[in-house]
Amino acid sequence: MSATTVPLRKCPNCGKPAVLAHRPFCSKRCADLDFGRWLGGAYIIPAKPGEDDDDEDGDEGAGGGPPAPGASPDEDE
Ligand SMILES: [Zn+2]
Repeated sequence: MSATTVPLRKCPNCGKPAVLAHRPFCSKRCADLDFGRWLGGAYIIPAKPGEDDDDEDGDEGAGGGPPAPGASPDEDE
């Protein structure tokens, strides 16, 4: 078997043969580029078109009452 240069994967950024030091990219530049692009995409926050749930229905759900009086476990003389 003739062990020549191991055919690494192609750079997903530009298609050039990747380099071991920067795999799977061909260079640090491509790696940074891809990383930056990835970050850029991750930073995109879907802005809401001003659709706030501001319905004042007076429905506060269940179990929203004041604590029952009588029991004061924090009052000790
Ligand atoms: Zn590249």
